Amino acid sequence: MDRKTRKLLTINRGLHPKSDVDRLYLPRKKGGRGLKSVEDVVREEKCSLFHYLAKSKESLLKVVHDSEASRGVNRSRDENVDELASSYWPTKGDLTFESEGFLIAAQDQALNTRAVRQVYSGSANAQCRLCNTQAETVEHLISGCSQLDGTKYKLRHDNVARYIHWCLCGKHSFERVSNWWKHCPDSVIENDSVEILWDFNIFVDHFISARKPDIVVINNEAATISLIDVAVPADKHISAKEEEKLMKYQDLRIELERLWKKKTTMIPIVISSLNVYLLQKTALLGTATTLWKVLQLSGCG
Ligand SMILES: [Zn+2]
Repeated sequence: MDRKTRKLLTINRGLHPKSDVDRLYLPRKKGGRGLKSVEDVVREEKCSLFHYLAKSKESLLKVVHDSEASRGVNRSRDENVDELASSYWPTKGDLTFESEGFLIAAQDQALNTRAVRQVYSGSANAQCRLCNTQAETVEHLISGCSQLDGTKYKLRHDNVARYIHWCLCGKHSFERVSNWWKHCPDSVIENDSVEILWDFNIFVDHFISARKPDIVVINNEAATISLIDVAVPADKHISAKEEEKLMKYQDLRIELERLWKKKTTMIPIVISSLNVYLLQKTALLGTATTLWKVLQLSGCG
């Protein structure tokens, strides 16, 4: 039954054929997809029944309990299993069925990249089909390829920033379109209490190289300035990226605090490019589209 379920998922493109099977049955909050296997359901029922027998005062049921205990059935429920998370898959996901399956396969490094092909079928060329300078792994394609840097990665980054700007417009009562993806931020918008700058080069007295964070929120009421800058790196670079952003805008932060006499804070928005649970849907979809297009390229043998 479990095999048939997985086959159906694969046919409907919700499960990549090379995805990790165990992960399919892990709770969603642990990075799995929260599916219940028939095997697990039977095991849980067995445990429930065993606990029922253990509490029973009926002598005959007690005999059954002792007999089962002697056969080693006394297995407690897995406390790590999140019943709620496990049961709502796949209907509660933010992504489409197909995108989720594709991204999970990408996280499992199960996509048909050249590096994977070299390991499994011994093909000679593991170099990236776009830049031809590094091994073509999923990680390289989603955040490390020089050929995608100014295009796909930029689009993904800009979409996340645009979404944040759209949310800020809502928060500070600016007029905005109803869907974030139709939102075209103006360079400067302001009302009585707040001014929001978008991709704006800030002029200061001294030479400062990094003067253009993605978004600047100047709150005149609260006398604060927030410098917001977005990055969408691979999982393992998240901490370094956050640190990098803080350092990069440190001079601007100090200078603005001094010049404009407002408490200034740098807010790095660093989102993993491939983590379903930390990632904004916008960045995830950008990652999925890039991977999909690159791996469909011809001449990839
Ligand atoms: Zn490359």
